[in-house]
Amino acid sequence: MRYSFKEAVIKGLAPDNGLFFPVSIPNLGDDFFKRLPTLSLPEIGFEVARHFVGDDISDADLQKITEEVLNFPIPVVPIEEGVNTLELFHGPTCAFKDVGARFMSRCLSAFAKQDQEVVTILVATSGDTGSAVANGFLGVAGVNVIILYPAGKVSKIQEQQLTTMGQNITALEVDGTFDDCQALVKTAFGDNDLNAKLNLTSANSINIARLLPQSFYYFYAWAQLQPTTKKVVFSVPSGNYGNLTGGLLAKQMGLPIDSFIAAANTNKVVPDYLNTGEYEPKASVQTISNAMDVGAPSNFARMMELYQENHASIIKDVKGAWFSDEQTQVAILDVYNRSNYILDPHGAVGYLGLKKYLNKENEVGVFLETAHPAKFKDTVEKVLHTEISVPSYLQECLGKEKKSILISKDFLDFKSFLLLK
Ligand SMILES: *Cc1c(COP(=O)(O)O)cnc(C)c1O
Repeated sequence: MRYSFKEAVIKGLAPDNGLFFPVSIPNLGDDFFKRLPTLSLPEIGFEVARHFVGDDISDADLQKITEEVLNFPIPVVPIEEGVNTLELFHGPTCAFKDVGARFMSRCLSAFAKQDQEVVTILVATSGDTGSAVANGFLGVAGVNVIILYPAGKVSKIQEQQLTTMGQNITALEVDGTFDDCQALVKTAFGDNDLNAKLNLTSANSINIARLLPQSFYYFYAWAQLQPTTKKVVFSVPSGNYGNLTGGLLAKQMGLPIDSFIAAANTNKVVPDYLNTGEYEPKASVQTISNAMDVGAPSNFARMMELYQENHASIIKDVKGAWFSDEQTQVAILDVYNRSNYILDPHGAVGYLGLKKYLNKENEVGVFLETAHPAKFKDTVEKVLHTEISVPSYLQECLGKEKKSILISKDFLDFKSFLLLK
């Protein structure tokens, strides 16, 4: 079955519960790559997105969307020789998910306007997704957002961000794990009663409108590294593998990235697959890089689609690595001591992945820093024995009253909540 960009964004998941994916990936062409080092981030976003959005959003509107969405810096910052970080945390919730969530929210709001319909967005979050999505949609007319998060398994700041927004945003605290939250959302999309009553849309990294913009900043990072004669390598700290899939898409569009490192914590089913050829989803385990505590990554299917389900071809482009909490802590301390740079636990996993494979002689490396270290203040301060400052807009929500609704991981509980809403 084929769907338009608009249909795929609104539906979130295909009727058979499969993931939407472009029928073909366009090559952006020599002219684009020649101009790339001179383009701004919003310009890159616009030129890339146009190929996928087609006529569903006019060029003028799409240009406005990318300018509004990409209005914060995404700099490449040198850490040590050959090792750079791409700081993706300068958005409103200090995490890379701002990019995808903001792009998706503005696409959906454009479509809601075209169709004059109210949409209900279900988001399962292991931490940062919910706040980025809710922030992107806060106060947007015609859109209700319901966030499901695992009770006691997100950081204090994350929980405050999720539960203090109000307005059109509702937070459900689920007595279970992130995988339970994700399962509830998936089941809801397949439920006839719910679909008859509500216009359900997903905002997880499975939504194509969140995935696509996650390719923009790979182009922008590559542009910032020019001129270089070295091969470019990206290391991506990963959970659901949406961020990495964004990079793989960019490569497929012609961006000369030599290889990727899929860097994980002890939830290592993808590194295991890359190293052995066997894919065995598991229950997730808790780590200090909790936004990557995913045992059955939803974008794995898309990664495989890009490589025709072929293990031999994917391992030419993607190497796997995983690291324990202890190794992550050592990396945070080590980089602070040597480079005076504060990593968050997720970025630290990316850093370790890059260090494991980077050949400085002919490669230049970039690891993605996916969150501001202040979002994981307790963990980072315990390692560094020093206080880290919290950006004022993160600080603000700490003083507000938490509002959440407790539910069990039983689908019927969730369903009755939605039907009564
Ligand atoms: C979500 C998240 C990740 C994992 O990204 P995926 O696209 O799910 O692989 C990594 N770091 C942080 C801080 C996150 O919020």
